[in-house]
Amino acid sequence: MSQIALRQISESHERRRTIPSGKLALPDDTPAMTLATPRLKREYETMQRMVEIYCAAHHATTTGPCENCRVFLDYAERRLEKCPYGEGKPVCAKCPIHCYKRAQREQARAIMRHAGPRMVWRHPWLSLTHVLDKVRRVDHPMVARRRERD
Ligand code: SF4
Ligand SMILES: [Zn+2]
Repeated sequence: MSQIALRQISESHERRRTIPSGKLALPDDTPAMTLATPRLKREYETMQRMVEIYCAAHHATTTGPCENCRVFLDYAERRLEKCPYGEGKPVCAKCPIHCYKRAQREQARAIMRHAGPRMVWRHPWLSLTHVLDKVRRVDHPMVARRRERD
């Protein structure tokens, strides 16, 4: 492949990863990305650990999450890939958009309720960073756009 073609691919990849500050899109307007930033990767890892704890207790699995929980994890990963907040992401529970569908939102709540307190002992570092992430406040994209216009 030529140098020019390689550069074009790399530039287009960079464009997809970049979300201009102050120009937040709604999740479904946001092109899918891989979990490119440390914040998003950590968020996904936290969700994985929580699902493992929840699934082991509720679905009696010993070799990782069951099919149903894996489907949920895939869904959460897709939401994260499209999260318009990127590196500045709040915790989903405090997000003004909350892009999850109702059923998955309920599933996330049940998982957090069970696994949240247990994370402190099992994964203290992830638990601590999650607490710090809870402090972050963000605007809904529509509010951010309105403020930009004014
Ligand atoms: S709920 Fe909010 S913070 Fe969580 S992935 Fe969706 S848009 Fe991002
Ligand atoms: Zn399960």
